[in-house]
Amino acid sequence: MTRKEFIKTCGILGIGLSQGSMVSCGGNTVEPNFSGNVLIIGAGAAGLSAAYLLEQQGISYQIVEASSIYGGRMKRTTSFTDFPIPLGAEWLHIETDIFKEIINDETIEVNVNTIRYNTTDSYGLWDNNVLTMSELGSTDDKKFVNSSWLNFFDEYILPSIQQQITYNTIVNSINYTNDKIEVATQNGQTFTADKVIVTVPLAMLQENSIAFTPELANNKQNAINNATVWDGIKVFLEFSNNFYPTYLDFNITPSESGQKVYYNAAYGQNTNKHILGLFAVGSPSSPYRALTGDALKDFILAELDEIFSNQATPNYVQHIEQNWSNEPFVKGAYLNDHEDWQTVKTLSENLDDKIYFAGEAYTDSTDWAGLHTAIRAAKKVVEELVE
Ligand SMILES: Cc1cc2nc3c(=O)[nH]c(=O)nc-3n(C[C@H](O)[C@H](O)[C@H](O)COP(=O)(O)OP(=O)(O)OC[C@H]3O[C@@H](n4cnc5c(N)ncnc54)[C@H](O)[C@@H]3O)c2cc1C
Repeated sequence: MTRKEFIKTCGILGIGLSQGSMVSCGGNTVEPNFSGNVLIIGAGAAGLSAAYLLEQQGISYQIVEASSIYGGRMKRTTSFTDFPIPLGAEWLHIETDIFKEIINDETIEVNVNTIRYNTTDSYGLWDNNVLTMSELGSTDDKKFVNSSWLNFFDEYILPSIQQQITYNTIVNSINYTNDKIEVATQNGQTFTADKVIVTVPLAMLQENSIAFTPELANNKQNAINNATVWDGIKVFLEFSNNFYPTYLDFNITPSESGQKVYYNAAYGQNTNKHILGLFAVGSPSSPYRALTGDALKDFILAELDEIFSNQATPNYVQHIEQNWSNEPFVKGAYLNDHEDWQTVKTLSENLDDKIYFAGEAYTDSTDWAGLHTAIRAAKKVVEELVE
């Protein structure tokens, strides 16, 4: 059985191994085709998932992360209230089978508590200064219960890979002229690798924060330059009572320019707290991103007072904000939902079978921007790399 056939039969995953060992599945033992080392740039969902898959196959790898923490846009805080607040990715936009798919090891029991919305939950639409209430109807979105995407990674993914992460290491150049790829960092370190997986946010590449040698081909550079990364912000506000619906939507024109929603962030959580979330990406996020602290709070309370007959200000307790466009190693929310699929396809193409791209903006071009798409992109890249 060849390595390729083996991977098809056994799946590339689900095989707990120590690095460099033979791979065994259903009685067959196959020497991995790829015996080099892999450098992963970025410890967000894509980077961590790629590492986990390489670990399962016994392939040598290392992750370098610019910031002092892992998780990227899965960032969460546990200090605001009595359940984890997801400051980035919050909803599960796909069925819960994705957890098994990520873990990819049938011997591991997966226990993740999520909640689906009820079709009869309250839904408000604020349009032309009029609030219209109705039922939410059906949606595929689910929330984690007293948990988050990052909690899931903490429990199932991090334990086997966390020793391989080097923090506070900002990659600023990649030279893939020779067989051994040279990756240099801002603090003067050089890493060499046989393959590199780039998972840095697209906005970082748009700022030329990594110099490639040889230079990127025109089609790749044009795709990077022409794609639109939406700006984005999330704000969470605690109130002393609940005066808002499960979802409050806004009519955004044109609809391609972004999205904005207030929502009950405590929905389905084991809590007595009343937490309202604001999620805004693209141009609807601009007025909020222009403000911070009390000015941002006052702006939001004024908006909510207008919609909910002055119930917001008297019930306000506290708030926190997360402006993703100001995060130094992210610089935006995500690739806009309406991007041209050919641009997305080009973004995901590898360089000379040496430099691979995985993450929310570098997918197979049928779906992007979601956390599960970043994870699936990592899986695809690892499959390509080991073949
Ligand atoms: C406000 C908001 C809400 C969202 N809501 C949802 C949701 O509800 N559901 C959902 O499925 N998705 C959601 N998403 C999208 C989801 O968060 C992303 O798709 C996913 O987290 C991206 O993972 P990634 O690994 O591609 O990138 P990231 O998580 O950004 O990871 C990239 C990593 O690279 C590091 N890095 C950057 N530059 C360098 C460098 N030069 N050297 C080394 N390291 C570097 C960064 O520090 C970061 O840790 C949301 C995103 C935002 C911003």
